Amino acid sequence: MKKNCPNSNCAFPKKFIRDGSFRRKEDSKIIQRFRCKTCGMRFSNATFSEAYCQKRRRVNFPLLKLLASGVSMRRSALYLGVDKKTVERKLPYLARRCRKLNQKKLEWFKGRIHNIQLDDLITKENSKLKPLSVTVAVDEDRRRILALEVSQIPAFGHLSKLAVKKYGERKDEHFNGLTRVFQIISPIVSTEVVVKTDQHQRYPGFVWAYLPRAKHLTFKSERACVAGQGELKKVHFDPLFIVNHTCAVLRANVNRLIRKTWCTTKDPERLKDHLDVFMYFYNELLLSRKLTPI
Ligand SMILES: [Zn+2]
Repeated sequence: MKKNCPNSNCAFPKKFIRDGSFRRKEDSKIIQRFRCKTCGMRFSNATFSEAYCQKRRRVNFPLLKLLASGVSMRRSALYLGVDKKTVERKLPYLARRCRKLNQKKLEWFKGRIHNIQLDDLITKENSKLKPLSVTVAVDEDRRRILALEVSQIPAFGHLSKLAVKKYGERKDEHFNGLTRVFQIISPIVSTEVVVKTDQHQRYPGFVWAYLPRAKHLTFKSERACVAGQGELKKVHFDPLFIVNHTCAVLRANVNRLIRKTWCTTKDPERLKDHLDVFMYFYNELLLSRKLTPI
């Protein structure tokens, strides 16, 4: 961490000296303080921390593990002995940290990914009349999640008429969601990557536009079996097993994605946050067992 005097008008922000220390009550850590030799401003190591001004640092990491293990936000608040508003505020913070770590890890795999699978998982915002689509991209060889993007879609099937009557026309943002996913994966995968998807009509255009030298294989969607919440298929061999299994893991471990549950997403942005936290947990702990505390 590069420390500088936090005063933006300071002439020599690099000239500062140590100036005692204090014991942070909240997590019993000794924090070094500094004083700027030019403007006299006093600051400490904590000033530059991302958790600056937080009063419940101790629960950050346990909360991450709970949220990625199928526990609801209210229940994790009860379990950790904090208010539910604290959990509400910590989710975007954890997501921000996880997003950075996910990005860093993805860059490490640059050019080494040769097979990917892509699919969409349908969930909802409050009601089934307001569906959301989560686009999932997975590395077929390592099973790592590469991208998770949330986009709103209009209600479909027998609910579509009722949805328009009750909530009006709903914008279809699936195109934007897919764009974001391809913007993330196209610089990372190798140029001659093999992309496996189902027969959704939007995928070929995106593969052609973002991965022109890729080989695109499409497979017919199969009927779901009892296990796996509609994601695992009732066939002996499922060519899209890796992505379908990842979707099933998502449904089992992100509380708001479970089918027929009381917990639903109220704000799509929080769903995105929750998914980023889970992506970090899944890639680093469930797959490689190297989770570093946040
Ligand atoms: Zn200064």
